[in-house]
Amino acid sequence: MFESLSDRLGKIFDGLRGRGALNEADVDAALREIRRALIEADVSLEVVRAFVEQVRDRAIGVEVTRSVTPGQQVVKIVHDELVGVLGEAATPIDLNAAAPVTILMVGLQGSGKTTTTAKIAKRLKDKQKKKVLLASLDTRRPAAMEQLKVLGEQVGVDTLPIVAGEDPVTIARRAAREARLGGFDVLILDTAGRTHIDEELMAETAEIKSVSSPHEVLLVVDALTGQDAVNLARSFDARVDITGIVMTRVDGDGRGGAALSMRAATGKPIKLIGVGEKMDALEDFHPSRIADRILG
Ligand code: GDP
Repeated sequence: MFESLSDRLGKIFDGLRGRGALNEADVDAALREIRRALIEADVSLEVVRAFVEQVRDRAIGVEVTRSVTPGQQVVKIVHDELVGVLGEAATPIDLNAAAPVTILMVGLQGSGKTTTTAKIAKRLKDKQKKKVLLASLDTRRPAAMEQLKVLGEQVGVDTLPIVAGEDPVTIARRAAREARLGGFDVLILDTAGRTHIDEELMAETAEIKSVSSPHEVLLVVDALTGQDAVNLARSFDARVDITGIVMTRVDGDGRGGAALSMRAATGKPIKLIGVGEKMDALEDFHPSRIADRILG
């Protein structure tokens, strides 16, 4: 387990209580620990640097009050700044458009895209009483198309019948037609992923986006992605202008620093988090909770 930032800062600031304002040497010592904590939490180096400067500006000259220790005071500053970057409140999926509202799921293979697609469908059906249609555009992996069908059946949501030999764009068009004619409220398109970003993947995803006019484009990213998260989020955002991010495997050992990196790099909100393999293991993203987790 990691030592929490509060414990580390407590050690640095031992005996400082009641001494007045935090001076630059105190703050520099604290910033070193903050930098280490953020890097251990997998926040990208570029984001750590910018963030630490932001904290420095706020921390120097802060009065050390009697009621809390300086360590706790700095932790509070860091926490507030983290929440400031992550966004103040949960940002729900936006369905405010004419039905059928299309949601496009994008991301790398293995990120949890198909699982998350089914989880979102279940949530919209159960909580918002929406009639949802799912369609897999992963034509290179028949097993992935089959997996979506099985998960759809499991959560009680329709999937577009699979027609062998169709290309992703044709499927996207057929799905839109089916959603319209079938009176569906929401259409969720699960796109193909690759193990890494490549031009072919991006071109295909961009083409699917242009024919399906999605209201939401959600990038699915594994919480354990680490330093690659910034590049990943920037690449997808540049090509398909994502509207939000879903971070999966938040139930794992990772500290979720990727959330901070991706938000800082793209300005796009983390909308939901995956917290397990089960179909109801999907939660709203609460910035304050992830800030606590990043701080350990
Ligand atoms: P895809 O290739 O992006 O479509 O990934 P899948 O949806 O097939 O997911 C890959 C694996 O990750 C599956 O075994 C899922 O059950 C698992 N998975 C997805 N989301 C989560 C999550 O939030 N937590 C955990 N623990 N496992 C997840």
